[in-house]
Amino acid sequence: MKDKISIVGAGLVGSLLAVILKQKGFTVQVFEKRKDPRKSEIAEGRSINLALSHRGIPPLKLAGVYETIEPYLIPMKGRMMHDEAGGLTFQSYGKEDQFINSVSRAQLNELLIESAEQAGVEVYFDHKCSDVNFDSNTVFFENGTVVNADLIIGTDGAFSAIRKKLALNDRFNFSQHYIEHGYKELAIEPVDGQFRLEPNYLHIWPRGNFMLIALPNNDKTFTCTLFFPFEGSPSFSSLSNKEEVDRFFTKYFADAQELIPNLTEQFFNNPTSSLVTTKCKPWYKGRSILLGDAAHAIVPFYGQGMNSGFEDVRLFVEMAEKMSWDWDEILPEYSTHRKKDADAISELALHNFLEMRDHVAHPDFLRRKKLEAQIQEKFPEDWIPLYSMVTFSDIPYSEALRLGKIQKIVMDEVLVLDESKIDFQQIIERFNALKKAG
Ligand code: FAD
Repeated sequence: MKDKISIVGAGLVGSLLAVILKQKGFTVQVFEKRKDPRKSEIAEGRSINLALSHRGIPPLKLAGVYETIEPYLIPMKGRMMHDEAGGLTFQSYGKEDQFINSVSRAQLNELLIESAEQAGVEVYFDHKCSDVNFDSNTVFFENGTVVNADLIIGTDGAFSAIRKKLALNDRFNFSQHYIEHGYKELAIEPVDGQFRLEPNYLHIWPRGNFMLIALPNNDKTFTCTLFFPFEGSPSFSSLSNKEEVDRFFTKYFADAQELIPNLTEQFFNNPTSSLVTTKCKPWYKGRSILLGDAAHAIVPFYGQGMNSGFEDVRLFVEMAEKMSWDWDEILPEYSTHRKKDADAISELALHNFLEMRDHVAHPDFLRRKKLEAQIQEKFPEDWIPLYSMVTFSDIPYSEALRLGKIQKIVMDEVLVLDESKIDFQQIIERFNALKKAG
């Protein structure tokens, strides 16, 4: 427990990990390239708010911070879909008592940094990591600081400096893929201090090749995110003036447009950001390791980037504790064990974009969902719908992906049948047989 641990990146994952490792008795230092977010107004980040779900909660509890953030969470019990005529359809996420939570990224990050400092972690802002020496366990910063540690953890996000350095090593695999869509955030302000949409839902305007979503915030605003192609028609590049933006929103999102009086101003003032998936292997070298987005950045369509990063933290600490904190054993073991799950959620997240922007609005999808809910009700031990496995369980992502693929085979067979021919016992027997066959 005398080991000194240096964590690079005080984002969501790095600051949570710092709290827990400090509580375990280590000397922990965190180095962050940004200024202290508690003292500055910079809104540099990936999104204004995030969906916190089941997997993210136990790690927050482990760090003792969940009770503090809980009052600020806004439960979202399902999708509220807006069609082009402004009609609304509700689709629950799971069982009646299951929901996900909208949380402010800035508030959560600040709370975690605060908790780290209170626990005794030394947090250094304005420290941008520029280099690492994996042989001598040394980290170098642009401001000239040089630090030695027994363990170096890179939680420096999707464009990790530590990962860039790892990439210079022989047999290091790395891939990065930008999807053709980017995103832009737009705010819906409250009126008379009240939310302008029902707050306890994730609102979604699915429009085939693009979509708008909206998550509630504590200040009664909603943050809308337009996921939209960069090129083509319509796209970010095809909407070049106020009239085009107005026409586009009137055609596709008329009910949302009514709620954003300064829409075109926001559209042209707010940044357009890209969405990347990164994969790499191995995640470690010597006594240095990557966690969170630094190891596996994914697109946001399953709401699992942060949740999987928090789960990384829990699994890493649990494994380390079991292995008596022997880093030389833990780093390869953790990386091998976790990699397949990171790859699985990466695939699931890409696929869920199709589901959200397109499938959710189709009658076939709704029938599939209804049937799945019935199967689950009759055989709760055997059949958990894919969304629930990912969002409301601890089932490893790779297993959820495998079972989800089998469920799809079974459901494709069932959906061509006449309603009167559907036999739930047969469905579950077929599913269990395929599951057993692997
Ligand atoms: P980050 O949050 O990126 O933190 C990395 C930190 O490292 C930052 O503070 C950065 O300043 C610092 N840093 C970077 N380089 C250096 C350096 N060289 N030296 C020192 N410090 C450095 N996830 C969910 O679970 N639910 C959601 O609903 C959700 N919605 C999302 C919506 C959008 C639009 C996007 C883009 C992402 C969303 N995510 C969501 C994903 C989530 O944002 C990330 O998975 C999460 O932020 C990862 O945390 P992290 O700490 O690994 O990385």
